[in-house]
Amino acid sequence: MANTANLFYKWGGGMKPDFPRIRSAHDEFLVTEDGRELVDAAAGAAVVNLGHSVEGVESVADAQLSELSYLSLSHFSHEAPEALAETLAAVSPGDLNAAFFVNSGSEANEMAFKLARAYHRETGNPHKSTIIGRWQSYHGATLGALSATGNTSRRSEYEPLLHGWPHVPPAYPYRWEYEGTPEEQAIAAAAELETTIKQEGPETVAAFIAEPVSGASIPAAHPHPAYFQEVRRICDEYDVLFIADEVMTGFGRTGTMFAMEHFDVVPDMMALGKGLSGGYAPISATMVRDEIADEFENGTGRSFSHGHTFGGNPLSAAIAAHVVDQYTDSVLQTGRKRGELLAAELEPLADNPIVGDFRQIGAMIGIEFVADRDTGEPFDPDLNVNGRVYDRALERGVYTYPGSGSVDGLKGDHLMLSPPLTISEPS
Ligand code: PLP
Repeated sequence: MANTANLFYKWGGGMKPDFPRIRSAHDEFLVTEDGRELVDAAAGAAVVNLGHSVEGVESVADAQLSELSYLSLSHFSHEAPEALAETLAAVSPGDLNAAFFVNSGSEANEMAFKLARAYHRETGNPHKSTIIGRWQSYHGATLGALSATGNTSRRSEYEPLLHGWPHVPPAYPYRWEYEGTPEEQAIAAAAELETTIKQEGPETVAAFIAEPVSGASIPAAHPHPAYFQEVRRICDEYDVLFIADEVMTGFGRTGTMFAMEHFDVVPDMMALGKGLSGGYAPISATMVRDEIADEFENGTGRSFSHGHTFGGNPLSAAIAAHVVDQYTDSVLQTGRKRGELLAAELEPLADNPIVGDFRQIGAMIGIEFVADRDTGEPFDPDLNVNGRVYDRALERGVYTYPGSGSVDGLKGDHLMLSPPLTISEPS
């Protein structure tokens, strides 16, 4: 498997990435420098949800560039981020009406953590600062986001730099050992959160963060709705804010605009990124419920000290506002249909002796490879099974996304397919 970490680029010699070099892209295709078309079945890490040819983006970008591309939102305001904030409030569930703009999914989560601590301080609970995450999760590469992340392979090298925040087991029905119906198992899994809050001391816990549907670690794993309903109840009981990390699942990926809609639960904060601009510009957002935002100078957020130089810049905001408008009901429906079609085409794989679990929700498919289907025992990591499947798919012209979860400390082998929602049907 190609090294998926970013590389240092040393122009003029030295290290040279051996990745295929891409010249251009259109629709659901990446075009290599030697003219080969690869199907972008990962949508570039679940970013390019509308494909590579979204109509109207160039003219929006040109118009914004010709007027103003950058503005410090610490001292000025501008129509583009204001309009984007309104659009996001309109499409977000419940009263997630306040938007705070940053540049990446990691930053959107960092922002949520700081806001959780600041909110509790404002409301007379200065000791509430611990963030509880889940094992097998990914919340970003920056140190706070990585501290909440439970993916051991992404954390391990940096452990000395991370906060000692606790983690609870993931919503991973395939590997759950709880007894009972799916609903009872979901409630038992959520109860681990309550146990951990009690162990930590509720007076110290600020927030719980979870991906509504797991992404990079155990792609497409998701629980019975009772899980998040119980999480909501527990968070309310212990005055713990619930942060839904919708960076990968937002904007139609799982068949609904936001994945939390499957569970009928409104989180206190929602981190957005990736599909927000469909890959056309770096921008992310943290959506915040009214009652939390209102604690900060009547919802203006002015008494909350946090900002990034490029956060909410007019160019990215104008592009994102245009992109978000494209996620119509009909596009979401197309995404659902394409996901179902793809799952139906791939269904025979579920019987393959090395496939332990085959998961699909909307246009997100996760395939988990195991050495033993009866016990779920993973492959020896040295065999690099998901890397080899990734390589073979790429050789055949399909770009997929290798998941990197682990099982009892061992590397797990997963592959994610998350094509553009608008990928064309086979002719
Ligand atoms: N949260 C989730 C659920 C993600 O999948 C990712 C990236 O894959 C991130 C956060 C981090 O986003 P970024 O890479 O934009 O910082």
